Amino acid sequence: MTGRTVDHGRSEVARPWPQDAHLSGGSRGLVLRRYGDRYRTAFFEASYAGTFLRGEAETIAEAEEAAWAKHTRAAGCPGHEYETRGYTNGAGFCRHCDRFASGVFDVRTVGIPCTECGERTNWTRVAGQMFCREHDPDRHERARLREQARAQGREPYDGPLDELLDELLAAMLDADEEER
Ligand SMILES: [Zn+2]
Ligand SMILES: [Zn+2]
Repeated sequence: MTGRTVDHGRSEVARPWPQDAHLSGGSRGLVLRRYGDRYRTAFFEASYAGTFLRGEAETIAEAEEAAWAKHTRAAGCPGHEYETRGYTNGAGFCRHCDRFASGVFDVRTVGIPCTECGERTNWTRVAGQMFCREHDPDRHERARLREQARAQGREPYDGPLDELLDELLAAMLDADEEER
C-alpha cells in the first residue's frame, strides 16, 4: 500500500507514483467533448514534472492501471521527440511514447496569429479568432464578436465549456452591476 488516496479518501492508490505527483480520481467524472456530447466514467489523473496523464475505466482502480501503463510506457521511452498534434499552447506529445508535456514549444512559433497584430499567441480565443494578451477583447467586445459570428453563420463559442464559462461570467458580472 502506498498510503495515498484519491476520491476524498475513498480509494487507495496502488502504484508508487512520484511523491510530488498530484493525483486525483473519481468514480463518476464528467467528460465534455468538444462538440456537445458528454459521458461519465471512472478516472484517475496524475500530474508531475510537466506532464499530465489520465486513465479512464469502469472503476478507479482500473483507471489507475490505465494511467500507470501510460506512465511506464513514457518512463521506458528511449528519448522523447515532441510534436504539437494541433495544439497551439506550447504543449506537445512524444511521437514514440505519447507522453504529454506542457511548455515544449514556444507559443510565438506554434501559436495562432492574433487577429489584431498578427503575433503568434495562445492567449485567448473568441468566436474562433485568436487575440494576444495586449489585444484581449473586453466583455463588450467579446459579445460583439460572438454576435458577428452568429450573423455570419459561424460557431460563436469554442466548445461547450467555453459557452458555459461565458454564461457564468456574464451572470456574475450582471449581478455585480445590479449591486452597484
Ligand atoms: Zn517519449
Ligand atoms: Zn495582438
